[in-house]
Amino acid sequence: NRRVILKRYVTGCPTEEDMEVVVGTLRLVVLPGSAAIVVKNLYLSCDPYMRTRMSRHDQPSFVPDFVPGEVLDNWAVSKVMVSGHPDFKPGDLLCLLTGWEEYSLITNPKVYHKINHPEFPLSYYTGVLGVPGITAHAGLFEVAKAKKGEYVFVSAASGAVGQIVGQLAKVAGCYVVGSAGSDHKVNLLMTKFGFDDAFNYKKELDLDAALKRCFPEGIDVYFENVGGAMLEAVLRNMRPYGRIAVCGQVSQYNLQRPDGAPDLFQLVGKRLRMEGFLVGDYGGEYRQRFEEKMAGYLKEGKVVSVEDIAEGIEAAPAALVGLFSGRNIGKQVVAVARE
Ligand code: NDP
Repeated sequence: NRRVILKRYVTGCPTEEDMEVVVGTLRLVVLPGSAAIVVKNLYLSCDPYMRTRMSRHDQPSFVPDFVPGEVLDNWAVSKVMVSGHPDFKPGDLLCLLTGWEEYSLITNPKVYHKINHPEFPLSYYTGVLGVPGITAHAGLFEVAKAKKGEYVFVSAASGAVGQIVGQLAKVAGCYVVGSAGSDHKVNLLMTKFGFDDAFNYKKELDLDAALKRCFPEGIDVYFENVGGAMLEAVLRNMRPYGRIAVCGQVSQYNLQRPDGAPDLFQLVGKRLRMEGFLVGDYGGEYRQRFEEKMAGYLKEGKVVSVEDIAEGIEAAPAALVGLFSGRNIGKQVVAVARE
């Protein structure tokens, strides 16, 4: 059973050498009545927040730190192989929290979703039909309360969350602009995802000027994925009563200290609302309603998904590290097995 362990706590940018693929053993049996299941992990989700778990924290975070020598874990699509649990049978497909390994023993599965639409690629449950999709929907509509006709800006726009934010905002009748880190990604935003405008933030000498060019009347809703200099420039370009949904700040995850406090006084004069949120608060019925709505959009072609699939568990460390140089084009997934 090959598995990816954290070799050492990480400071700065993570490298492949911070992780190691090792071979362990796992007995594919569960005791009757034990409620345990053994799953075969098919698609692992690579998410930037995993980096925040690779450092040791003095203060407790919203998720536990990884421990050197132990297997990484995250959301995945997995198939039940053996079950002692009354709710599962062999062959069931689940989206659940599991180890970065070929097979996992889960002693008491609590956090999982059944896969209701196996007609789509199963990997979609790590992206458009999974956590990134729900994150995009909840952040855009519940937190930022985006409405028809509003000016919406999203950073890291071609990524797992960003591409869905942009497309959902278009379906809702907003004007949508995205930023991304390469010309290829910018082209994708315009041609594949239907953004109204887009720019390569790495080529812009002045982010403030780029935003003024794209939003001469200012921004109503900012879906914040990156933090740092982009957030500062956005604050200067927000319209009165604008809303900022703080989803993540990927530019900050490798820093020992956040790089500079943005000009929060902008919040006062413009009466802005800035609110962080966690996708974990949008489970249960919200997740189910979202899944049906998104499945409908996918069938109608209103939303499309672009994925970057790395093959095999050995490719997992590089895939995770690649999120921090923007190597991924779309949702980064690791295909450990196809079925
Ligand atoms: P992505 O698929 O967007 O991958 C990360 C991307 O971030 C990279 O491809 C890169 O794109 C960009 N990036 C990396 N480093 C930097 C940097 N220093 N400055 C600017 N951009 C950078 O990831 P996700 O869509 O999965 O995640 C997007 C955000 O959403 C993250 O901040 C993540 O933590 C957050 N998140 C929050 C959740 C919540 O519950 N609040 C749930 C899920 C995700 P590029 O080439 O364009 O630079």
